[in-house]
Amino acid sequence: MRYAAPFMRRHGLVPIAETEAAVTIGCVSPPAEPVERLLVAHHLKPVHFVPLPQQEVVARMQRSAAHETSPAAADGPLRPVETNADEAHDNAPAVNLVNSLLNDAIRQGASDIHIEAHHGAVPVRYRIDGRLVAAVGDQNEPLVSPGRLSAVSARLKVLAGVNAAERRRPQDGRFTARVATDAVDVRFSSMPTVEGESLVLRLFRLHSERFTLLDLGMPDAVYEQVSSFVERSSGLLLLCGPTGSGKTTTLHSALRRISRGDRKIITIEDPVEYRLDAEQIQTNEPAGLTFDTLLRRVLRQDPDVIMVGEIRDGETARLTTRAALTGHLVLATVHSRRAADVIERLVDLGVERGLLDRLDPLLLSQRLVRLRCNSCGGTEGCCECRFTGYRGRTGLFEMEDRDGARITLADDGRAKCAAALTTEEEVLWATL
Ligand SMILES: [Zn+2]
Repeated sequence: MRYAAPFMRRHGLVPIAETEAAVTIGCVSPPAEPVERLLVAHHLKPVHFVPLPQQEVVARMQRSAAHETSPAAADGPLRPVETNADEAHDNAPAVNLVNSLLNDAIRQGASDIHIEAHHGAVPVRYRIDGRLVAAVGDQNEPLVSPGRLSAVSARLKVLAGVNAAERRRPQDGRFTARVATDAVDVRFSSMPTVEGESLVLRLFRLHSERFTLLDLGMPDAVYEQVSSFVERSSGLLLLCGPTGSGKTTTLHSALRRISRGDRKIITIEDPVEYRLDAEQIQTNEPAGLTFDTLLRRVLRQDPDVIMVGEIRDGETARLTTRAALTGHLVLATVHSRRAADVIERLVDLGVERGLLDRLDPLLLSQRLVRLRCNSCGGTEGCCECRFTGYRGRTGLFEMEDRDGARITLADDGRAKCAAALTTEEEVLWATL
């Protein structure tokens, strides 16, 4: 017995059991009478409602939604879905268990999977919208039982191409997972801990969204600067912020604005997360295709616009600067916290300060904050926001303009709080 995810979310109810005589449905609070009538008409038998804690309703919904196979009918009326005999996770071999974990995490929109050994249990958590949430099975049972941790660990290590028998040293590798028709690039990292092992999978999938610069939440002044900057024939735009702060999305949105066919755009990325009308190249360190070696080759391809996924070594920093000085428009990210620190970071990497002064790069910094849920207004929480009060994210931006125009992350955060888009806690969390 299954219902479509939007139906369950809208009414805050989840199927529990069906017998010859009646149907049992879990809910946060009993639904309105028309909904009850609809359910009785659908099942053609009496319907009983059992109050459940919010967390359990949400967890069951997530599990049920993860099994949804037909997103096409996403918002239709009540839609029963054939249920398969669910394999008991404990009996499934490690291969199936790893596959179902990846499937589940990807369908829930997770960016990372964390599997840890803790006090005799193996909690699995997904990072969704930047925060970790517990991942549980249909009956609230753990997804990975303690007895299966070593088999799961070995399976992941085989996939990642590292030593499956090695559990005492940290290892990392990568592999491509096929989920439905999508290829997901998975970065695997294992770390021995006092209680066993900590396994982390970072998931990079090709996003199908087509964000534009207008969708990112830029303050007007930042939007105007960036959109006029990308129309220039040469120059350097440097965007900084921690991992997962939306930098790639911003650079791709900027490139999408100018990919009209009259300029040759080449990107070097690790990995490619969005498809563009451009020549996109993915780094491959084992094959010697690092940012600097690729950048040197790319300059012989007569590019007009170059995106450098990340400047993290001296050679890439010098080549990027030189490319911008020799008539190319270059967009790059740098791993530093504040826009004001970016120049020092490049100088540390060996770029001459005088060259940077001549280039006068546009310096930006970015963070992501969660948006207040627009179904419940963020005050009480609802099924749509998993009772967190937040749903979706937007950017906070900082801009250092040599002309003196300056917007800080705090300025943008205050403006977005004043507009009730997010909260002070979110801004603090993202900017401290
Ligand atoms: Zn809500």
